[in-house]
Amino acid sequence: MSKVSNYRYIDISLIYITYSVNSRQKYQFLTQVNYVSTNHSYYSQKQTHYTIELFQEMKYKHLFFDLDHTLWDFERNSSESLDEIFHTLSLQDHGVSSKQQFIDTFIKINTHLWDEFDRGRIHHSYIRANRFLMVFDSLGIPCPENHLEIGELYLHTLPYKKHLLHGALDMLGYVKERGYRLHIVTNGFTEIQARKIASSGISHFFENVITFETANAKKPDPDIFACAVQQANASKGECIMIGDNWLADIIGARNFGLDTVYYNPSGLQFDENPTYDIRLLEELKTIL
Ligand SMILES: [Mg+2]
Repeated sequence: MSKVSNYRYIDISLIYITYSVNSRQKYQFLTQVNYVSTNHSYYSQKQTHYTIELFQEMKYKHLFFDLDHTLWDFERNSSESLDEIFHTLSLQDHGVSSKQQFIDTFIKINTHLWDEFDRGRIHHSYIRANRFLMVFDSLGIPCPENHLEIGELYLHTLPYKKHLLHGALDMLGYVKERGYRLHIVTNGFTEIQARKIASSGISHFFENVITFETANAKKPDPDIFACAVQQANASKGECIMIGDNWLADIIGARNFGLDTVYYNPSGLQFDENPTYDIRLLEELKTIL
């Protein structure tokens, strides 16, 4: 303290640098304090850094997430379920020699059927009634009489699986903390999707879950997006759709007038561009 009393004056200079990180403006302040003594011979300097982050007004307020293959790891959860079914129903005794071949064949056929569903060519009930029939047919094995039982067991096993895609939980926590309001928009069944959301421990993130049943329409039909916007009590400009399905999520939402984030881990190319194209879910942090 005695030293301070000898100071003739204190000179403070302030410098600031601005830079932008993740679309947010940051200001870094550098203060330089010069202590000058009465005889002008004593000189000291102290520098302190402060970083202030100024949040720009958020363009979007509502995030509409697809569930399967966007947040919930459908392939991993489906593979685990099929693995259990293979053993529980002793499918080896029905002529299914390879568990992996059974899983791979199911995933290929199921993906094709859901694509047909998205294009409006088949109904949900067709998928449920036929997918295991088609798997056995594709494997060249007579279909077991209990193929409907296999389908039921699959539906009662799958939604209880909890695996999320890499980075999903961290990203949801980030956007929630940033103040976004989150909703699910999915073509799945209400009860099954609710179970998946609960099993994977992400229910608390979402205000609304809009399904083809609650909206009485499925993606890419504009009506399901209209229902989502209405339930969020929002305007179109405040909402953005995030999903992995080019036709259902991206073209559907864009045709309705929403901005889009295409979760595109394989780097697929199309003739037109979504609003944003990401390979990893964590890239959403650079957008939102
Ligand atoms: Mg999807």
